[in-house]
Amino acid sequence: MQRKPKCSICKKAEGVYRAGETLKRFCGAECGAILALQIKAKRDAAKVKETKKRYAKEKEAFRDNDLPYQHNLTKVSFNRMRVLQCKLRFYERNQEPECISCGRKKMDWCCGHFKTVGQAGQLRYDPKNTHLQCNKNCNMSLSGNITGTKTSRGYIKGLIEVYGQTIGAALYQYCNEKQYQKHKWTCDEVKNIRIEANKEIRRIEAILNTYEATQ
Ligand SMILES: [Zn+2]
Ligand SMILES: [Zn+2]
Repeated sequence: MQRKPKCSICKKAEGVYRAGETLKRFCGAECGAILALQIKAKRDAAKVKETKKRYAKEKEAFRDNDLPYQHNLTKVSFNRMRVLQCKLRFYERNQEPECISCGRKKMDWCCGHFKTVGQAGQLRYDPKNTHLQCNKNCNMSLSGNITGTKTSRGYIKGLIEVYGQTIGAALYQYCNEKQYQKHKWTCDEVKNIRIEANKEIRRIEAILNTYEATQ
């Protein structure tokens, strides 16, 4: 004789009845009511999860068109890319990386903008306007240390000393000329810059690993 399945609530009596489309069984009205509540709670939880998922997706889509948010993400990638590119340039010339403004080595590196984002937002993702700089001293404390101090050359002289007279002067002229050509960024542009920067980061990191391993 085949045994009848047990009630899924009390586990004692036989599960005489099937609960709707589920495979669960119950013995009578009392357990049936409890089971119905359990099934409903499970369905509600699934609904909440679904709603949350949809909401997160909508929020993400909204952020897709959120320009300040896109700038925040791209800033991190671009600046990291420039730090790596500048370091690689030094290594390729058998030089130790140095700060564009104070010339010191082995510093807390950052990407220093010659024309600040506030001055010339159109140059914020321009490699010609961004060079390796020490973060705490020149970038933060001396606002980029553009013209130099008693003990340091400053950004302008640094461009010449690091890149040579011709290129350094061209970089200086370029940034000064471009300073007034305003540009209105779009989310797509900013996103694409980030995608390209991330690719470049991966490429350079692989190369730098071999340089730094032999230091
Ligand atoms: Zn029961
Ligand atoms: Zn410095």
